[in-house]
Amino acid sequence: MTRKKIVAGNWKMNLSKNEGEQLISAIVAQAAQSPAVELVLCPPFPHIGYAKNLITATNVFLGSQNSHDKKSGAYTGEVSATILKSFDVDYVILGHSERREYFGESDALLAAKVNEALANGLKPIFCCGESLAQRNAGGFVELVCEQIRNGLFHLSKEDFAKIVIAYEPIWAIGTGVTATSQQAQEMHAALRSFIAKEYDAASAENLSILYGGSCKPDNAQELFACQDVDGGLIGGASLKASDFLAIAASF
Ligand code: PEP
Repeated sequence: MTRKKIVAGNWKMNLSKNEGEQLISAIVAQAAQSPAVELVLCPPFPHIGYAKNLITATNVFLGSQNSHDKKSGAYTGEVSATILKSFDVDYVILGHSERREYFGESDALLAAKVNEALANGLKPIFCCGESLAQRNAGGFVELVCEQIRNGLFHLSKEDFAKIVIAYEPIWAIGTGVTATSQQAQEMHAALRSFIAKEYDAASAENLSILYGGSCKPDNAQELFACQDVDGGLIGGASLKASDFLAIAASF
């Protein structure tokens, strides 16, 4: 199995410049101890300029938490993929449940954002996941597959190969309740076979599918031991260097 192991930190709307510098410096100082894992830091936009300088020549990569679907123009408060690429950003989180819920991001908008990110050489970390009500109602695997179909299946095989998927059950995000390793494995395996049917076995096999939702140092090892879990998208625990590094060391 050749697919990449990735641990990505989603800082969300947290940390001052000083706090961010300290966190990145602490992570960079230890990152070489997890050489088999790609570490990705996704701070709020204003951190991106100095963050890139701090991670240069390390195995740490930089991501943003969002990007716009248009190239440029009168979109006050927004940031385009073109601008991010000019700061050498590597990844962009798209379709996080908080963006879908609080900012009304639809599957169609996300498909357009994916296109614009790829056109600028950013690698999307495309989030999907069901709410607790949706899980309890049944049919949640099909629902998450639909998010993938609507957001990504317009892509060519070549472009699809640049995508990372993050399965994030909404009921596990920031709640302290993580999915069991069995629940994570079941969904990841289902997504991989859904993707194999649309593209082919190799495309599905080479795709990194991350788990996100209250992933911490004490549960990362069990989650990452699952055959189809290739790492994590980490919220709360990405704000503390020792926790983030411990998660990265959990493979
Ligand atoms: C997230 O928001 O992407 C996330 C996984 O958050 P947390 O780890 O805090 O649940």
